Amino acid sequence: MAAGGTKIYCPRCNSFAVCKAVSPTKIGKPKAQRWTRTDYRDIAWFRRGRTCLSCDHNFLTAEVEEAFIEELVELRRRLAKKQSLVVNKLKRQSPWLKREETIPLAIAESFIRNTAWWIGHPSGPVHAPKHAERIYKSHHGWAIDFGANTFLVGKAIERCRNKINEFFEQAAKGQLPLKSDVKNALKHQVSGAVANNDGYEYSGYYPIESRDLVFGTQSIDVEDAANFIIRESGIEELLIDT
Ligand SMILES: [Zn+2]
Repeated sequence: MAAGGTKIYCPRCNSFAVCKAVSPTKIGKPKAQRWTRTDYRDIAWFRRGRTCLSCDHNFLTAEVEEAFIEELVELRRRLAKKQSLVVNKLKRQSPWLKREETIPLAIAESFIRNTAWWIGHPSGPVHAPKHAERIYKSHHGWAIDFGANTFLVGKAIERCRNKINEFFEQAAKGQLPLKSDVKNALKHQVSGAVANNDGYEYSGYYPIESRDLVFGTQSIDVEDAANFIIRESGIEELLIDT
C-alpha cells in the first residue's frame, strides 16, 4: 500500500480506495481550493484533486460540513416522491417504454440458487437456494424482494450478458481479457440491480460489503454471481487467469 494514502470513496471503483491528493490543475481545474457559491453563500467548500491508486481515476472532492449531506439526502427524498409520479404518468402514456423481460426464468432461478445466502443464520452464513422460488415479474422484469429492497435479477443478468458480449468482441479481435477485469465488471453490474422501497433503482450502485449485497440477514454474493455468469457463458477459456 502507498505510504500515507487515505482511503476515500472512489466513484469509479464504487468503494473506498487509497487516493492520493493532487492539485486540481492536474484535473484541468483552476488551482484555487477555497470556493463559495455566489448564488448560495452558505455553500462553501475546500476542493481537492484526487487520483485513485486502484483505478487511476482523477476526480475532485469538496470538503463541507456534514449537515449538507443530510440536506442533500432529504432534498433527494422529496424530489423522488414528486418525480416518481411523473415517471409513472409518462410510462402510462408510452407503453413501449416498459421493459420486456428477455431473460428465461430458469436462468434467473439458477442465478439466485447460486448466489443467495442467509448470512444471519445462527451457525454462520449458509446458502439460501430456496429464495429462487420467490422470484416474481415486476415492471423491472424478474425480481425478488429482500425486506425493503428488491434485487432485480433479470436486469442483473441482462447487464452481465451485455458485458460478456463486450468481452467476447474483444476476444474475437485477438485480445485476451483478464479474468479479474471480467469479474470486476460483472460484480459492478450486479451491484447496480437493486431497487428501493418505492420500486425504483438506486442511483449509482448498492454497496458491496466484503463480497455481498447485504439485505438485513440475507445477501446476494457478487463474487458467486460473477463466477456463475462466467461459468454459464463459457467465457473462461478466452480469459487470462489473473
Ligand atoms: Zn478507483
